[in-house]
Amino acid sequence: MDAELKPCPICNSKAELKEAHYLESELPYSYVHCTNEACTLNHNAAHFSSSKSEAKNDEDAIAAWNKRQQIPAHH
Ligand SMILES: [Zn+2]
Repeated sequence: MDAELKPCPICNSKAELKEAHYLESELPYSYVHCTNEACTLNHNAAHFSSSKSEAKNDEDAIAAWNKRQQIPAHH
């Protein structure tokens, strides 16, 4: 899996794709978060799951993360 992840739109740190499972249902989900622990997006990341596959979840999470690049960033 080497889909490209853009850096965090807020702090420009490296982003990371994570996969996990909901406890009750064991439904897999994926999310992308910022690796900078001081950043809002370290914890506040959108989760993506579907009944299709983990690969599809990854794809959705990455696409959503990369779209957020439009958040105004300091230059
Ligand atoms: Zn960040």
